[in-house]
Amino acid sequence: MAPASGTRPALRERGWPLLLAAGVFPLLLGLALTFLESRRDVQRELDATSRILLRHAQTISDHAWRTVNTLKRLEHNDSTCEDLEPDLQRIGSIRAYFRSIGLTHGHMVFCSSAFGPMREPLADVIQREIPGLGRWSMSVEGTTAVRERPAVVFADLYGDVGAYTIVDGQYLTDFMRAIGEPRGYYMSVVIGDGHPVTQGEPPTDTHPLFSPLSDDTSSPQIMVRVSAPESESVHAWWRIFTAFLPLAAILSALCMMAAAYWLRRKMSYRDEIRRGIARREFSVQYQPVYDIQAGCCGGVEALLRWQRADGRWERPDVFIAAAEAEHMIIPLTRHLFELVAADMAEWQAPRGFHVAVNVAAEHLQDPTFVADVRRFAAQIATHGPRITLELTERSLISDRKEVVTALHTLRAEGVDIALDDFGTGHCAMSYLQTFPLDFLKIDRGFVNAIESLDGDAPVLDAIIALSKRLALRTVAEGVETAVQLAYLKRQGVLYVQGYLYARPMSSDALARWLPTRGCEPLPSTDQIV
Ligand code: C2E
Ligand code: CA
Ligand code: CA
Repeated sequence: MAPASGTRPALRERGWPLLLAAGVFPLLLGLALTFLESRRDVQRELDATSRILLRHAQTISDHAWRTVNTLKRLEHNDSTCEDLEPDLQRIGSIRAYFRSIGLTHGHMVFCSSAFGPMREPLADVIQREIPGLGRWSMSVEGTTAVRERPAVVFADLYGDVGAYTIVDGQYLTDFMRAIGEPRGYYMSVVIGDGHPVTQGEPPTDTHPLFSPLSDDTSSPQIMVRVSAPESESVHAWWRIFTAFLPLAAILSALCMMAAAYWLRRKMSYRDEIRRGIARREFSVQYQPVYDIQAGCCGGVEALLRWQRADGRWERPDVFIAAAEAEHMIIPLTRHLFELVAADMAEWQAPRGFHVAVNVAAEHLQDPTFVADVRRFAAQIATHGPRITLELTERSLISDRKEVVTALHTLRAEGVDIALDDFGTGHCAMSYLQTFPLDFLKIDRGFVNAIESLDGDAPVLDAIIALSKRLALRTVAEGVETAVQLAYLKRQGVLYVQGYLYARPMSSDALARWLPTRGCEPLPSTDQIV
């Protein structure tokens, strides 16, 4: 609605923090949401990886136990290692994963696929204390044969015969490397109460935002932990954020457009009315009011006009409503008073001539109201007209004592009060009694209802009758036809205002119009019929 030329400076001066916020907000929201989503994403990956690793460890474990069971079936109390060694070597070499397998008496190894006959505690072979007899499994740091590489021991030991298998930890670390290295994961598998078999670098927590994430999964004997380094979280976030970026840019643009639209609507009228006043974009048009008895112009209604810098005229009902909503109606009415006072210095109004101005509710209820009208009255005093304040039912809705007192005060000083747009607002009857009034302006909606001289306009008739009973002078608005005029005249209406008599005109036009056409007779119905 506001022209671009008038809006852009307002946005530049006052609106840029909001515009900036509207532009940045989706980005910040995107940062936060993509951060959370990336954390979830990394966590999901960790969860999947740890499950795969656990399944793999479980497969190795099942395989190892099956081999232990096979070994146990080989044993006979009277068999020697020499008898059993070929079978051990065959099983140890054809089955996957094993570093060595062996047979025991109690906790002593008497036969091993790697060393043949021997007599050494299993604890020495695996280089740590064993949990005891019975069935157990445990990951260890190394064995006598290969000290520097972890292994997993599966043992089923009893007083007489027993068997064990040692799985090389390499099978686990190779698998862990294959699934975790591309992402820099740190992985560990602990079997029984054993030593962790690990792969990768343990993550460090140095990033202010992204802490390392981990996932633990376990089965009764196996505990798996997978941790992602901070860099993985950062990469995941960046991947998601760059995918979201085009959407964020669109959202930013939409938010900025919405903010600009809102600013234009919200701020422009306040600022632009203020600027319009400063730039003298407002002017006043005067619509003559015809005094039927005198047959002459009895006064004018001052109607504000706003022509923008680009030449466009703003509709009065729109900018007046906006000025009321934006609390600019008081400065605007003061400006109107100044404009009218300046205009009146240019033309000679007859004595008793009425100048009507429209007053909004907010102004009426403002403590400065009486002083404002007095100042206006003082400015135009030398030109002799009477001031009429046009109040609408809406502006009288608050029947506060102060308003009644203010109106009484002004009325005592010679100001007339008119009730405008009568019949269109809220219940007006009570106002007629509460407020001191001189004129009642019948809204043009009722005048429009007059279709012919003999026709029926019951509401209009009732309003006119009521007005007479209350000794108020009636002004009919929006009189456009001779029929309407004749009807109103017959009903005893004293004043008419409307296109039939005159349209609103500039001060200069009025100055020329008044002496020449002010007292021209109005077209009568005889002329039409
Ligand atoms: P309003 O006070 O009822 O003013 C009369 C409106 O009716 C004016 O419209 C006028 O141009 C129009 N009018 C006059 N004769 C005829 C006619 O024969 N036929 C038709 N169709 N219309 C006619 P305008 O100037 O557009 O003003 C609209 C409204 O804006 C006014 O209604 C008034 O409520 C408000 N307004 C205008 N100037 C001011 C002002 O200075 N202060 C305040 N508070 N309100 C104003
Ligand atoms: Ca009016
Ligand atoms: Ca009116």
